[in-house]
Amino acid sequence: MDITLVPEGPYRFRMDRCDPMRVPGVVFATRDLLPRSAGDKTLEQVANVATLPGIVRASFAMPDMHWGYGFPIGGVAATDIDAGGVVSPGGVGFDISCGVRLLAADIDREPLAPRMRRLMDLLGDTVPRGVGRGGLWKLSGRAQMEKLLVAGAGYAVEQGHGVPRDLERCEDHGALEGADPSQVGQRAVDRGLQQVGSLGSGNHFLEVQAVDRVYDAGAAGAFGLHTGQVCVMIHCGSRGLGHQVCSDHVRVMDQSLRAFGIRIPDRQLACAPVVSAPGRAYLGAMAAAANYGRANRQLLTQAARRAFATAAQAGLDLVYDVSHNTAKIETHDVDGVARPLCVHRKGATLALPSGHPDLPADLAAFGHPVLVPGTMGTASYVMVGAAGNDAFSSAAHGAGRVWSRHQALHRVRGEQLRDELESRGISVRPSSWRGLAEEAPDAYKDVDVVVRAAEGAGLARPVARLVPLGVVKG
Ligand code: 5GP
Ligand code: MN
Ligand code: MN
Repeated sequence: MDITLVPEGPYRFRMDRCDPMRVPGVVFATRDLLPRSAGDKTLEQVANVATLPGIVRASFAMPDMHWGYGFPIGGVAATDIDAGGVVSPGGVGFDISCGVRLLAADIDREPLAPRMRRLMDLLGDTVPRGVGRGGLWKLSGRAQMEKLLVAGAGYAVEQGHGVPRDLERCEDHGALEGADPSQVGQRAVDRGLQQVGSLGSGNHFLEVQAVDRVYDAGAAGAFGLHTGQVCVMIHCGSRGLGHQVCSDHVRVMDQSLRAFGIRIPDRQLACAPVVSAPGRAYLGAMAAAANYGRANRQLLTQAARRAFATAAQAGLDLVYDVSHNTAKIETHDVDGVARPLCVHRKGATLALPSGHPDLPADLAAFGHPVLVPGTMGTASYVMVGAAGNDAFSSAAHGAGRVWSRHQALHRVRGEQLRDELESRGISVRPSSWRGLAEEAPDAYKDVDVVVRAAEGAGLARPVARLVPLGVVKG
């Protein structure tokens, strides 16, 4: 496909509609942030997504975009449910409801410094990670799993893993509506029983950070953040259960494409109308897996709290928990009419502006927190949703890869990277040298540039910049 980007502003490009696209593409980036390596298919994926039945407005890509399964990572697309709109598992991704949660400690970096080593050792020893490893909470069987799949972080808190206030600071109060555990296959359940409270593989992490700069004192205050403060950022998702749900439902949708008369340019975009049986089945299973991901982050929060209490006599309050791999039913204005849409955010974060009714009361005057991890060797950001975001109130979810994992492995040695980070005062608790090398800071875009682009494009505004003190890597 021949793709031409037309600049529409310093941080925005348009990809004009041409057959078989149904809507244009919109790419939020600077020229430098656009995918550059030969054979990269990210922009082609933006165009492919624009062909989905029922898609409205545009196929969007966030500044941290990169090549993904079907949809680009950083892709946002909404379909009109009443106009044949489809849902596509590739628009959510394999790690359903993967997301980020930020905790604010009641201790600053200086008093923590002498206790940092003990804290990192404790976190390293108690946070389960690595592929296939067991989690903190072993569920008794399918019946208990179904409760967790319906109530998400709420079920974890009800069972003593957290405090009720935590739920006030979770997107959707910790549970996505519409979960249907009966659509989650036995293999997915079996994979999930032992993994609640585990990070998973290398891109997932639990990082101790410090607030290095505040850009918006009002919002930072409401989020409970100040300069010098210690924070914990947790990035993980729905582990084997979410992966299995995605695989199972992609297979079903792939087989039902003909029956619905859907033609797509890439089989990875397998989809079905939201209102069809396979569409509903997927959305029910996806919400269930999302709730597993949210409970997972809740359990890891408790592990961090225990380590902080023991090593630093410090407490941790939840700032916010956001998911960046979801499809949600939302109402948005399309051409002046409020429409029920299925909004896919794949490697993109919800970024509601101030005043939105879905915000917790104490954040309503500021907007939805947007958590943007950078890398273990650079900054991470807290942003807040901006008004006038036409990408269905979505923003970047990270720095975004520039090297594939394979490329990173060729260029970086894990041991050397550990030494380099340690010499810069960043403690590293890797789970494998290979996993560490794959996630090398050089493998990602410059998060400062990505955040400036997200701000310049009017998606979100920076609130605070966080720097890493220590990282427990998946
Ligand atoms: P993803 O969900 O796409 O796997 O990752 C989201 C983002 O997390 C990546 O784009 C990257 O910027 C960021 N990231 C990956 N590893 C780390 C880490 O160890 N620490 C921090 N702070 N960010 C990371
Ligand atoms: Mn993930
Ligand atoms: Mn993620």
